[in-house]
Amino acid sequence: MLPFFLLYFCAMSSERHRLLSHLAPTSSTPIGLEIDRAEGVYMYDPKGKKYLDLIAGIAVSNVGHRHPKVVQAIKDQADKHLHLMVYGEYLQTPQVQFARQLTSTLPLSLNSVYLVNSGSEAVEGAIKLAKKATGRPGLISFENAYHGSSNGALSLMGTEQFKFPFYPLLPQTSIIRLNNFEDLACIDRSTAAVFLETIQGEAGIRIPTSDFMLALRKRCSETGALLVLDEIQCGFGRTGKLFAFEHFNIEPDILLLAKGMGGGMPIGAFIAGRELMSVLSHDPILGHITTFGGHPVSCAAASACLSVIQEEGLVESIQEKEKLFRKMLIHPDIKEIRGKGLMLAVQFECSEKLFSAIDKCLTYGIVTDWFLFCDDAMRIAPPLTITNAEITEACAIIINSLNNN
Ligand code: PMP
Repeated sequence: MLPFFLLYFCAMSSERHRLLSHLAPTSSTPIGLEIDRAEGVYMYDPKGKKYLDLIAGIAVSNVGHRHPKVVQAIKDQADKHLHLMVYGEYLQTPQVQFARQLTSTLPLSLNSVYLVNSGSEAVEGAIKLAKKATGRPGLISFENAYHGSSNGALSLMGTEQFKFPFYPLLPQTSIIRLNNFEDLACIDRSTAAVFLETIQGEAGIRIPTSDFMLALRKRCSETGALLVLDEIQCGFGRTGKLFAFEHFNIEPDILLLAKGMGGGMPIGAFIAGRELMSVLSHDPILGHITTFGGHPVSCAAASACLSVIQEEGLVESIQEKEKLFRKMLIHPDIKEIRGKGLMLAVQFECSEKLFSAIDKCLTYGIVTDWFLFCDDAMRIAPPLTITNAEITEACAIIINSLNNN
C-alpha cells in the first residue's frame, strides 16, 4: 500500500494535470503556483497562503496588484462601454485622454501614440513604421536583446538558441554588441532602425554606458536610421525615472511601451513624432490596423495607473528602495547586484544555486525568478509600491533561504 503522503501527492498531481490539460504549455516545468487573489505586493493561494511578489508579473504590476484607483477606473469604464470599433476610427474618450496624459510626460518630439495590445505588437508596429518611413530594409538589434515572441520581434532577438527553430525570420537583420563602439559602424544608410532596450531585461539587466548611448544616438542621426528604444520592461518608473531614456540625456525616434502601462490590463504603444507617425495613415490607408488596440477599459486603467505613479510619488521613492535592497542582500552566495532602481539582477555563482534559492524562497512565501538569457541571476522587480518594511522582510527571507540552501 502507498504511504499517505504519496497518495496525497498523486491525487494533487493528477488534479493539476486535469486542470492544465487543456491549456497549451510554454514549458515542461511551469511554476504552477495557483493564485486565488492578489492585493498590493501580495498574492494569496486558495488556502490563504501569502506570497510577497518580487517580480510583479514580470514588471507589470508597477502600482501593485489591484490598485483601488485602477480597479475603480476599470469598473467606471465597463459601465460606459467596452469595445466599439477597430482602433483609429471613432473618437473614444479613454484613448484620447490617455494619449494626452502620456504625451504630457514625454519630450515634444514624441507626441503621437499608436495604441496596441502588447509589447510584441508595439515592436511590430515600430518595425513597419521604420521601414515605411525610411524606405530601407535593415534592422539592427543587440546581443541578448528580447523584444517579444512574434515573428518580427523574434527576428530582433539577440540569442540564436531561441530563433533558429523558427527560421526563416525577417531578412536583413543584424545583431551588434552593447557598449561596443566599433559595432556602431554597422549602422549605415541601409538601416531603417536600431532597436535597443534602454536597459536590457532578459539579458540579466545590462545597462548601456552614457557615452555609448550618446554615440548610438549620434550614429543613428548621421545615417538617418531611426533609434527605437524598447521600454516595455524598464518604463513607467521602474528604474527611478518615469522613462529610462531620461537617465541618458538622449531622445529616441520611437518609444515602445507596454507591461506596466495598464496597471495589470493588456495595453501597449509605439510612440513617435506626429509627422513620422503619419506615414502609417496613407499608401495604403489602413496599412496598420488593430481590432482591440487601445481597448477603452485598458486605456482607462492605464490613465489611472499613470496618475497613481505621479500622485503617489513612486518614481521619487525608487532610489531609496534600490539602496535598501543592495544594503540587505549581502551574502557569500551573491556575487554582484546589477541594475537600476527596482530592476535588479542578483548574480549567483551558478544556476543550481539560484534555482534552489528560488524554490526555497517560494516555500517561505517569496516569489522571485530568473531571466530568459541569464539563468544564474535572480530577478528582483517588485511593484514600485513596495514599502521599506516589505523590502526588509523580503530580503531577510532571501538571506534565510540562502543560509538554508
Ligand atoms: N520587449 C521587452 C523588453 C520585454 O521585456 C517584453 C516582454 N518580456 C517584450 C518586448 C514583449 O512584450 P509582450 O510579452 O507583451 O509581447
